[in-house]
Amino acid sequence: MIEARGLTKRYGGKVAVDDLSFTVRPGVVTGFLGPNGAGKSTTMRMILGLDRPTSGTVLVDGRHYRDLPAPARHVGALLESRAIHPGRTAENHLLTLARTHGISRRRVDQVIDLVGLRGVARKRARGFSLGMNQRLGIASALLGDPSTLVLDEPVNGLDPEGIRWIRDLLRGLAAEGRSIMVSSHLMSEMALTATELIVIGRGRLIAQTSVDEFVRAA
Ligand code: ADP
Ligand code: ADP
Repeated sequence: MIEARGLTKRYGGKVAVDDLSFTVRPGVVTGFLGPNGAGKSTTMRMILGLDRPTSGTVLVDGRHYRDLPAPARHVGALLESRAIHPGRTAENHLLTLARTHGISRRRVDQVIDLVGLRGVARKRARGFSLGMNQRLGIASALLGDPSTLVLDEPVNGLDPEGIRWIRDLLRGLAAEGRSIMVSSHLMSEMALTATELIVIGRGRLIAQTSVDEFVRAA
């Protein structure tokens, strides 16, 4: 569960996120919709403790993410900048991450299977398509078996098959009781992936509703 209360971020005189309050519940995929520059990435960075709110709070399962020791950090993230060295294999990348966080090799194998990368796990990343990179990014996010997953524009640039794959994966993960927040600037993508919706514009909350309600009202 993610709870934002009066979350605000200013960069100098500019307000990127403006008194934002919302809840991301477990069990469903919650879309985070807003045009480019609306404040989605900034909000997600604050949820993850990568950026510090100017005021307000954001809690994950009742706690500040920053306050949690690393192995207890049950938030997985897929952010827009996700570089993997082109000379490394997917498996190697995941094993290194796992080692850093004290995660077992068994879990690495599990996430490789979960995201369908088994066939290319020992291939170098330089030949990976965007879709394969996304799978690898999601596999990395799932390594710690997080209760909460935050994904910034995960279907951006993917073909319809890739979008369907991510939708099915996210819905499955949500059905296991996880809280999932996924951002996009396109309603057409949101309608395909999410069931709940948080809509923002210029850093402010416009609506928190179900996708069905939102489509009906539009
Ligand atoms: P979105 O993810 O919805 O595209 P962002 O959160 O990236 O929006 O950006 C929201 C606003 O905050 C934009 O106007 C952006 O230019 C500004 N912004 C984001 N990060 C910084 C930063 N580090 N310094 C200054 N302004 C920033
Ligand atoms: P910095 O990276 O700027 O050094 P700190 O780690 O010192 O930031 O954190 C500064 C303060 O911001 C702390 O009191 C911390 O509790 C608070 N803080 C960090 N993350 C959040 C959050 N997600 N919501 C509210 N306050 C937070």
